[in-house]
Amino acid sequence: MLVVCSVAQAAGSNASIDLVKLIARDTGIYFSASPAYSWQQGLAALFNGDCDILPWATKTKQRQKQMLFTRPYARISRVIVTRKEQSFIARIDDVGHKVFATEKGNNIVNQLKKRYPRIQIVYAEHTDDALKLVSEKKAFASIASLYSVASLFNSSELEDLKIGGVLPAEFDDVVTLATRRDDPLLHQILDKYVVSTDAEEIRGFMNRGAIFIYDSSINYLKIWLIFGTIAIIFSIMLWWNRHLTRLNNQLEKTKIELQKKSKELEVLSITDSLTNTYNRVKIDRVFSREITLSERYKHVLSIFMIDIDYFKNVNDTCGHWVGDQVLVKFTKVLKDNLRSNDFLGRWGGEEFLVICPSTSLKETGLVAEKLRKIIQETDFSPAKQITASFGVAEWKAGDSQESLVSKADYAMYLSKHKGRNRVTLADNPLK
Ligand code: GH3
Ligand code: MG
Ligand code: MG
Repeated sequence: MLVVCSVAQAAGSNASIDLVKLIARDTGIYFSASPAYSWQQGLAALFNGDCDILPWATKTKQRQKQMLFTRPYARISRVIVTRKEQSFIARIDDVGHKVFATEKGNNIVNQLKKRYPRIQIVYAEHTDDALKLVSEKKAFASIASLYSVASLFNSSELEDLKIGGVLPAEFDDVVTLATRRDDPLLHQILDKYVVSTDAEEIRGFMNRGAIFIYDSSINYLKIWLIFGTIAIIFSIMLWWNRHLTRLNNQLEKTKIELQKKSKELEVLSITDSLTNTYNRVKIDRVFSREITLSERYKHVLSIFMIDIDYFKNVNDTCGHWVGDQVLVKFTKVLKDNLRSNDFLGRWGGEEFLVICPSTSLKETGLVAEKLRKIIQETDFSPAKQITASFGVAEWKAGDSQESLVSKADYAMYLSKHKGRNRVTLADNPLK
């Protein structure tokens, strides 16, 4: 009867014992299981001859001097166990300076230290002690075989742990069956058996013993749900933003359109539709403002009234439409020959008012005279020669809008009275 040393804490040992049981069934050799407490104790038991087979053993140069190893029958990844709140460790170099707990006698420690020189190792008696150090925050993480971790994870005390990373393949746990050096026959039998046993069958043993709890924080369904939700929210926001921008653009367009229309309306409201000059309302307003300014700043201000001579005759002989065209042309001649700071408005019918800010009676008289001559010389055909009579007046302190207009009106009446086609200055007739 051969004794198989079973390491109590490792799920892998059950699978190994199953393998040994299979060997027993096929070879007729009898085995009995002897539970050992740790790997160290298991190795010591094999070395001391207290047991014959140590399943789940890793071959090292040191151990080869003391025992025989079959060819590997399983290759298990070594994993990094962290607390659940720790994010996934893609590369151990990123956290290389932290404290890692591992089981005493772990054969990869030297290899780890060589590969990651900044790593700090603390040792625990067993794998579960190493995991507890992590759980109690005495170590940042633990490095252990995935298979050992899988069974220990079923313990409720380690609920706050997860597999937070995997070591590169060079650190894999390559598992063999170890036998005593002084029993080469058993070694040969087991080695042959390992070689001839179906890999699928071995995998079956392994799988039965292990319940893997992988990094539970990486829940891909959850991640997709979160990303999906974010994408939907983002799309809605994008759509809403575009919609708002479109509405804003429309609003801005409507605003510009309205401003344009209101400007047009304003222009229409102050413009005489036939002659396109200021209408009576606007010229009245300008007149009032200019009088106020002259009063305030003691500036001179003069005006003159213009009335087309015998305009009724134009209508009577050429028709109202021609009369209209004469009015349009007459206004254009006035506009083209007035100074830029003078204001022209249609006072009514064929009468016009011109306001000349900062201009004396005499200067305004000269302006009026110039216009009179130009009108007289302008061709208004089919109407015959067109002339106009002018009445000029200057604003004096105490003058109101009405009194000033009256003075200009009276001067114009005098022009008509004296035979038309002339300029009369209020108080100082030119002709
Ligand atoms: P005078 O001023 O030299 O005394 O003679 P007048 O013939 O110009 O005088 P009156 O004021 O009697 O006639 C003005 C005419 O102007 C009367 C009116 O039919 C005409 N008139 C007024 N407004 C318009 C207009 O917008 N278009 C046309 N075609 N005629 C107009
Ligand atoms: Mg008239
Ligand atoms: Mg007239």
